Amino acid sequence: MSEIKEEVKEQIAKRRTFAIISHPDAGKTTLTEKFLLYGGAINQAGSVKGKATARHAVSDWMEIEKERGISVTSSVLQFNYGGYCINILDTPGHQDFSEDTYRTLMAADSAVMVIDASKGVEAQTRKLFKVCTMRHIPIFTFINKMDREAMDTFELLDDIEQELGIATCPINWPIGSGKEFRGVYDRAEKQVEIFSGTQKGTTQGEVKKVSINDPEISWLISDSQKLQLEEEIELQDGAGAPFDQELVSKGELSPVFFGSALTNFGVETFLQHFLKMTTSPLPRMSDAGPIDPMVEPDFSAFVFKIQANMNKAHRDRIAFMRICSGEFEAGMDVWHMQGGKKVRLSQPQQLMASERKMISKAYGGDIIGVFDPGIFSIGDTLTASANRFSYEGIPTFAPEHFARVRQVDTMKRKQFIKGINQIAQEGAIQIFQEFNTGMEEIIVGVVGVLQFDVLKYRLENEYNVEIRMDSLPYEYIRWIESSKTEVDKITGTSDMKKVKDLKGRPLLLFVNEWSIRMTVERNEGLVLSEFGR
Ligand code: GDP
Repeated sequence: MSEIKEEVKEQIAKRRTFAIISHPDAGKTTLTEKFLLYGGAINQAGSVKGKATARHAVSDWMEIEKERGISVTSSVLQFNYGGYCINILDTPGHQDFSEDTYRTLMAADSAVMVIDASKGVEAQTRKLFKVCTMRHIPIFTFINKMDREAMDTFELLDDIEQELGIATCPINWPIGSGKEFRGVYDRAEKQVEIFSGTQKGTTQGEVKKVSINDPEISWLISDSQKLQLEEEIELQDGAGAPFDQELVSKGELSPVFFGSALTNFGVETFLQHFLKMTTSPLPRMSDAGPIDPMVEPDFSAFVFKIQANMNKAHRDRIAFMRICSGEFEAGMDVWHMQGGKKVRLSQPQQLMASERKMISKAYGGDIIGVFDPGIFSIGDTLTASANRFSYEGIPTFAPEHFARVRQVDTMKRKQFIKGINQIAQEGAIQIFQEFNTGMEEIIVGVVGVLQFDVLKYRLENEYNVEIRMDSLPYEYIRWIESSKTEVDKITGTSDMKKVKDLKGRPLLLFVNEWSIRMTVERNEGLVLSEFGR
């Protein structure tokens, strides 16, 4: 095997590719924008924000997006900071939550979890967290909105540990909250960090590190705040888990930071610590064993997202791929494992701040979008290596909304089947059939309800098929990992439904979690999974 080029190694070593996970409104967009501000990718905060306008600039895809002012698909932002080349994967949150949100996490090497200090762990954070733990990637916590009344610090840490089942290690500690939020205390350096001149968060401002006993800060931090801080630190030092980089790297211990993305307090502190503690591009599992980007000299990548119809006039698709090793050059020919032939990767794009631009080079750790003539599927591997290998596939994630779908005009059955299969192949929806009957009935499952609208819109506009959708009461779907009895003989609650996916794998649909538990109890040896592999 040839040697990896020094220059390529250096480029990969400085990459940090991560996703930000949070519940809507916790402050993910604001924090991302502040990272860009510190990275010098934007001059003044507020220029990326303003969801309606900014997100439009990123991708004006489909009428639905324009009508609703939201982005249906996720994007990537790249910028430089402190010698690192940072790739932030955007995980769509609000109504645009979809299976793509989960898939995006498969392309990340670590995750930053943003939590609203007044709310603690919320539903969407919990879902995204589960996917991160499945991959054992490092997870960092930023407790945001400390400039508002916050929950007690110990309660917040306890909430994360109880709700998510991960140990926490606060790297810094907040001094007050709401109007009384003064800064953070760095536990390792035993210094107080105070912030000034951020102009309500629009500019970087200054950070000052001083001893808690420095008379210079007595005007800022009251005696009672100082006393409270000392007591809390003593308690935490005595009872909390110590910092352990190895556990952090395995995703078993989450370093916790406090701050306010709005006012910039604690943002740069977080960024600096995080970049040191997180990881450069990780090795990825393939059918030829793990592929280490520091060893493998040739280009390899896997597709994690397919975005259709960027341009309505053409049926263009863009395949987003995570480069896992080597160097990418525009127009290069690579081997497409699943297609079994060579393909040219053309029109490579990357997002810099909020602009889409063409690129000529990229490295392991980077995300690129390339023109897809309709040949790629999610999970596909591309490689320039002579030892052809395929990366481990991307699991299918459990949809939470289900509907029975049929075409209005029975004469259009063929177009309907073609369209719905194609849309499913792109990964926008999942389709199921009754377990024992034929193809007649189609059940569609989606992670976010917006995908139903996308499906209807696309079938009408691209395939000229009008459909009828009847929503079904199910909210949970489980793959059958193993079962002692035949699927036909599995007995569940009366509201349970048996279906199969496109690959013929049996699945169970449930209305509530109670039914899942009952079914597992009633069928000895039945193991269900939230992920389809
Ligand atoms: P996202 O939905 O997670 O991307 O959240 P956004 O970044 O859009 O923030 C949601 C709302 O919370 C916006 O009105 C922000 O201005 C506000 N916000 C974000 N961070 C902070 C913070 O640190 N303090 C306060 N007070 N508000 C914040």
